[in-house]
Amino acid sequence: MEYQQGTLAGYEVREYLLAKWGRTCAYCGRTGVPLNIDHIHPRSRGGSDRVSNLVLACIPCNQSKNATPIEEFLKAKPALLAKILRQAKAPLRDAAAVNATRWALWRALTATSLPVTTSSGGRTKWNRSRTSAAKSHTLDALHVGRLDAVTGWPSIVLVAKATGRGTYCRTRTDKYGFPRLQLPRIKTVRGFQTGDLVRANVPTGTKAGVHTGRVAIRTTGSFNITTRHGTVQGIGHRHVRLLQRADGYGYATHSETRVRVAFPPPPEGGGIHSGGP
Ligand SMILES: [Zn+2]
Repeated sequence: MEYQQGTLAGYEVREYLLAKWGRTCAYCGRTGVPLNIDHIHPRSRGGSDRVSNLVLACIPCNQSKNATPIEEFLKAKPALLAKILRQAKAPLRDAAAVNATRWALWRALTATSLPVTTSSGGRTKWNRSRTSAAKSHTLDALHVGRLDAVTGWPSIVLVAKATGRGTYCRTRTDKYGFPRLQLPRIKTVRGFQTGDLVRANVPTGTKAGVHTGRVAIRTTGSFNITTRHGTVQGIGHRHVRLLQRADGYGYATHSETRVRVAFPPPPEGGGIHSGGP
């Protein structure tokens, strides 16, 4: 009921319909155009507001269908009519899977006796529309749940990416599955391990410059460094300094989209909270 009538009215249903109908007009299949919510059985003829009676339609289709019963509107396209009626009744399969999973997760979390609150993707989007924040993973995280105000966000975010700690397999195979080369048994060369975060300061030569990133070791002592700009090959170990030991993650910084935020004035005792502890 809250979704249908509360402050989020329209947001949840719209997001659901966009996913269910693949962001295309149900009647003509056009995509990338503004889409209206259309009642399969017109409201004026007693059609309900339930999501099973809603599709997305481009503005021309929405207007030309108007209050026409769908059977009449699609009289010339019986296959399409059948498809729409079938799909309208079908629940969103992914949503059904998420539904089942999230309640299991919720039950497990509440069993810890820590305070647990829940929210929805529709509310996240609604919050973002109030602060006019761009869509990104980090800004989505900031906009989850009940939100009084956002006073700003960092321009740089830290991105941690799981890279693993290498492989036990000591051979590489060719396309027929035969061993192609032998990898060394040792994991360290000159004190470095593949995956270490390093900075190389190369004074001269074609590789001259400062290179910061993940190192890939070679027994020759000539290393490769993957920086944010690409991979630099053949860096002598003498130029390389360790910044951080490999821990199975790669770290990088990305710039966050900077959008001015002036909404709304923080309420008394305001600030950011996203529910939960
Ligand atoms: Zn259309």
